[in-house]
Amino acid sequence: MTRYAEVAVFPHRVPLTKRVPAAYTYLVPDEWPTIEPGMLVLAPFGTQSDFDRLVSGIIVRGTTQKPDLQRIKPLDALLHSSPVISPAHLELARWLAETTVEPLSNCVRLFAPPGQSLHSDIEYALIERDVELPKFTKLQAELIELLHTRGPLRAGQINAAFGQRDWKKPIARLIDQGWVMLRQVLPAPSTHGKRIKLAAIAPSLESRLQPENAAIDLSKLQLGRTAETQQRRRSILAFLQDRHTALEVDWLLAETGGTAADLEFLEGKGLIEFRYREVLRDPLADKLFAPAEPPVLTEDQAHAWNEIQPQLALSTSSPVYLLFGITGSGKTEIYLRAVAEVLRQGKQAIVLVPEIALTPQTIRRFAARFPDRIAVWHSELSLNERYDTWRRVQLGEVDLVIGARSALFLPFAELGLIVIDEEHDSSYKQSDSGSLHDMPVRFPLYHARETAVELARLTNATVILGSATPSLEAWQRAQRGEYKLLTLSRRVLGHTQVIHAQEEQFHIAAKSYHPAEVESARYTDLPPVDIVDMRAELKSGNVHLFSRRLQQAMTDVLARGEQAILFMNRRGQSTFVMCRDCGEVVQCPRCDSPLTYHEPLDSGQSHGIAPTALICHMCNHHEPQPKVCPKCGSARIRYFGSGTQKIESELVNMFPGARPLRWDRDTTTGKGVHEMILQRFSEHQADVLVGTQMIAKGLDLPLVTLVGVISADTSLHMPDFRASERTFQLLTQVAGRAGRGLLGGRAIIQTYAPDHYAIETASQHDYATFVKKELTFRQATNYPPFTRLARLLVRDAKADRVKAEAEQVANELDAMLTKHGAPRGSIIGPAPCFFAKVRDEYRWQIVIRHSDPASVVKELKLGLNWRIDIDPLNLL
Ligand code: ADP
Ligand code: ZN
Ligand code: ZN
Repeated sequence: MTRYAEVAVFPHRVPLTKRVPAAYTYLVPDEWPTIEPGMLVLAPFGTQSDFDRLVSGIIVRGTTQKPDLQRIKPLDALLHSSPVISPAHLELARWLAETTVEPLSNCVRLFAPPGQSLHSDIEYALIERDVELPKFTKLQAELIELLHTRGPLRAGQINAAFGQRDWKKPIARLIDQGWVMLRQVLPAPSTHGKRIKLAAIAPSLESRLQPENAAIDLSKLQLGRTAETQQRRRSILAFLQDRHTALEVDWLLAETGGTAADLEFLEGKGLIEFRYREVLRDPLADKLFAPAEPPVLTEDQAHAWNEIQPQLALSTSSPVYLLFGITGSGKTEIYLRAVAEVLRQGKQAIVLVPEIALTPQTIRRFAARFPDRIAVWHSELSLNERYDTWRRVQLGEVDLVIGARSALFLPFAELGLIVIDEEHDSSYKQSDSGSLHDMPVRFPLYHARETAVELARLTNATVILGSATPSLEAWQRAQRGEYKLLTLSRRVLGHTQVIHAQEEQFHIAAKSYHPAEVESARYTDLPPVDIVDMRAELKSGNVHLFSRRLQQAMTDVLARGEQAILFMNRRGQSTFVMCRDCGEVVQCPRCDSPLTYHEPLDSGQSHGIAPTALICHMCNHHEPQPKVCPKCGSARIRYFGSGTQKIESELVNMFPGARPLRWDRDTTTGKGVHEMILQRFSEHQADVLVGTQMIAKGLDLPLVTLVGVISADTSLHMPDFRASERTFQLLTQVAGRAGRGLLGGRAIIQTYAPDHYAIETASQHDYATFVKKELTFRQATNYPPFTRLARLLVRDAKADRVKAEAEQVANELDAMLTKHGAPRGSIIGPAPCFFAKVRDEYRWQIVIRHSDPASVVKELKLGLNWRIDIDPLNLL
């Protein structure tokens, strides 16, 4: 019987004019074995049946029913004999497609082995057959010969061997006739550790290069078109030949003046080959952190653990716990226990942490307890590293992954536990950052928390959400009993042994602690937090960034040889440049958002930003600082507000002896820079760390006794209904950094809005009061968690067109909602976004309030310049 398969396909780049449907239907070749959903295949895609248009895809459904289509193309190759995506994961992909209103292909893609959409993963191999060869064309014979002598080759390698000649049509015929097959696809993962790439003379060439075999002359080899190119490539070969060993690629290129492309060429020609060497790193070198032996639990922890443990043992349910514990209350210890329990049962665990918190400190803590079978998953991994990790998980070599949100899609066979630390963090939501023009792949705009709960439901796993400042959504669900609330209310200073070790290392004596119920732990108090009214400072004549109280505190800390962290939630010298006479603010000509001023520091510290440049943080547009106001001509135009650089320079002026260290996005672009800065600070090579949001997370620094928030206001005045919640979370996290060390400490928050409830409650570490006020506000204004939202964002190069389109869709929506009997006020907008123009595109949005916004939005027929975000976290 004729078989058909619905396939989610993964084109490299979807043409802007084309919408990827839920799945394409293909014919299954007769000779194929039984097909199953989740199998990885190669399918023709695109208008021509051009050979180049083969893309990989995943079978989502098989059927014998003939689809209602004119022309059905056959699948090209089965790339792995068994499914690479489990039924539960496919089910989750369907759920994602449904709840995020995104084509199924884009959701299935999240689960596919990384890099599978790249052509280079496909190999052409000769099918050796014991029959007489038929008459081949010249090109076909050459191809057969090539594959015979060199073994299976990738497209790139054949390209190099064939130069300009078209080998694709002849090889297609060979495939049809059963002489060549496409194969691959899941190569074994490379072993652990970082790989260094080496190049060596290919063995086949090596034997011909022996001295007695003088016939091979490097100068006879065809190595490229220009003399210069040939010379470079020849010197690479000569150098390798000379050293008689595999050499590190970087060194080889530096020595010979060659390029990476030269090496690819030589490899394609079969003259050299690449090898890899492992460099093993030791992530466990630091002994300051949690002892590998689990500590005795404190009373609070034991209570929480006694709730969770019996549930973990049952694999018939999928409970969700909200572990609400102040910073430093020992939540991580609960995660570690839960992971240990799940691994003991032979199952696997995923621990999600905000990307920023994926520091060596966090990883080390987990690695110290589970040294062997752990892997890390984050955005800095290369495609190869991703693939290796994915494959190791699939092979069952990894039981625990600690990583960013997309770790949820790794192919664990028997998931037992998902932990989401800092559950409220906005990085758990996939955001839509690109513009229309750099959208090679669209991801569904999913939220890791919702996805984790659904995945757990499908696999009977347990979910633990942890936070000191739970999102209002999670909090409300816990109140309703959908999540089980567990509370840790006391701050643990640390393990007694670790405290002693620190006392010795830093030559200090722990100051403020209380004994815990258990001998092995000590409690401490949350730090006192002072609010400073900056309006009063101005009135009294202090125009500095630092209030008198903060100055005094800094002086004391520095005099005692301790450390301070100064926090500012914007980077750059200032937030904007404003004319004091007419109020004109200098804006980006492309984005209409304020440009940021960067003061030139000494050359070493300019971080690649031109001196005195204004920079747009949306599109990276640079321009010089204007000398006079472009509007009124006044010379009194200058920066306003303050950023990390300004803090740093004022700091140096005020405290000449203090050694500052700046940590923000400008200083942390490179790989590993975070770690370096953190390391320097924790080694006390600097006294004051000045930074943005980043420093609010993941740090544990014993000598820090003061945290200063320069201005709490910037985040408070964003046009977003979550501004108060964000401000509260941020301030609580930042203040929580203080007093975590042996020496205790305090926090000082400077603000122009000292009476705002978000600031007041944060200063008292009072989540309960904050959440009560905030929920009242949300209910009154009809915002989540009392309703749900969908954001429809439309982009266009033409301002009037985008407006017209937004208005038309809003009208359609209005009619639709009225028909459904939705109440007034269900549509907010249409309006230009806060960031109304980004990278030359105008942005408008419509926000819908509805209890099930996906069901409404699904019915709309929207163009490709629209983006749907269900339950958006960002409305700017
Ligand atoms: P959180 O995850 O809530 O921020 P942590 O788990 O990091 O809190 O705990 C704070 C500190 O207390 C850490 O140094 C941790 O090693 C230590 N700690 C946690 N629980 C215990 C315990 N039961 N006994 C001894 N030390 C503990
Ligand atoms: Zn002006
Ligand atoms: Zn811009």
